[in-house]
Amino acid sequence: MGKFPLADEALAQVWICRKCKARNKAGATKCRKCGSPYLRPKHREIKAKK
Ligand SMILES: [Zn+2]
Repeated sequence: MGKFPLADEALAQVWICRKCKARNKAGATKCRKCGSPYLRPKHREIKAKK
């Protein structure tokens, strides 16, 4: 979890197209940009710099 709950929530609702990396809303079955069905949820935890 990051410092910003709102940001975490927003990230959790974003799905990324595996093909063109466009953002899609959670629950989307196809990419809105290229129509690809290959979506993945955006990772909630972002790697922090070490
Ligand atoms: Zn796409």
